[in-house]
Amino acid sequence: MPQPLLGMELHEIQEILGPGQPKFRAKQVYDALYRQNVGDLVQISSLPAALREGLGEEHTVGLPAIDRRYESIDGTRRYLLRLDDGRTVEAVLMPEPGRDTICISTQVGCPVDCKFCMTALMGLERNLTAGEIVGQVLSVARDNGLLKEGSRLNVVMMGMGEPLLNLPAVLRATRLLTDSNGVGISPKRITLSTSGIIPKIAELGAEPVRPKLAISLNASTEEMRQELMPITRKYHLADLLDACRAYPLRNWERLTFEYCLLGGVNDTDADARRVVRLLARLKCTVNLIALNPGPGIPYETPEPERVAAFQAIVRRSMPCFLRKPRGRDIYAACGQLKRNS
Ligand code: SAH
Ligand code: SF4
Repeated sequence: MPQPLLGMELHEIQEILGPGQPKFRAKQVYDALYRQNVGDLVQISSLPAALREGLGEEHTVGLPAIDRRYESIDGTRRYLLRLDDGRTVEAVLMPEPGRDTICISTQVGCPVDCKFCMTALMGLERNLTAGEIVGQVLSVARDNGLLKEGSRLNVVMMGMGEPLLNLPAVLRATRLLTDSNGVGISPKRITLSTSGIIPKIAELGAEPVRPKLAISLNASTEEMRQELMPITRKYHLADLLDACRAYPLRNWERLTFEYCLLGGVNDTDADARRVVRLLARLKCTVNLIALNPGPGIPYETPEPERVAAFQAIVRRSMPCFLRKPRGRDIYAACGQLKRNS
């Protein structure tokens, strides 16, 4: 099997080229992979032909292949991307005036068993490599002619998987995505969302190059959170909030709390008031999302009036936004990503 180059840092490419090659050759390969976003090694025209062919004997670029592309009436595009071992993951492009957001996966499936999420039904197949995480961004960007003006692009790790259970690959991918000699996306424009793997939150905070942190709260009491997200029986709400208070925010940064509203379950006025109390001392924003329904999900979407009432209460105390469902017609919305064969 040829080895993918995507995922490698400059010094690793240098090692592959061998000691006989001058340093600028490794830089040319790095630039071609991460800045020019080439799809094939033959496109690296700056390399001498012999070197290019030698490299191609044992290596590929390693971009995930686009297996299927689904287009929503609202402009959202969902991608089924095929990895080297034949497994597939999903990524979603959400174009908006002035900015594009790519939602990527960090694992094939997910080992966390949230009761309202379709990815949970798959279980975990495997972790993605850093190259596969970066590759999702580059494949989707290539397909849409993005990254030419890289600064408009936002990346959210909110597709399939729990990023903090694949932290080394997520961090390496973040370093590659933010490198100004490569892809060059600002760390302010990359966000990771977690179900709340507490020990990993501190680890993330200690990293010099890291995405912004979003936390899936989804309930206003310990009991309800344990019911909806059984993993939180291990990682308690009070400890999660302690970890959030201890988290070293950068001066431009706020925490985001995501809250998926389930009709008649966690969407009352009392829930909203408890959310405000829980988050009172944190520099944070709350993002609400009404449940995206799906087969096998035993919950309902709340009425729009209920969602509005919930938002109105939280907004009195902290910024609180309602995330619009995008691409529901193509099953591209949050929690709907699941491999369909
Ligand atoms: N595993 C991480 C990131 C992927 S899930 C996490 O849980 O945070 C991204 C977001 O989608 C989470 O906030 C999750 O609560 C939300 N989500 C999952 N299923 C959903 C559904 N059916 N409808 C709406 N949001 C959902
Ligand atoms: Fe995994 Fe996130 Fe889905 Fe929970 S909501 S099962 S953590 S992907």
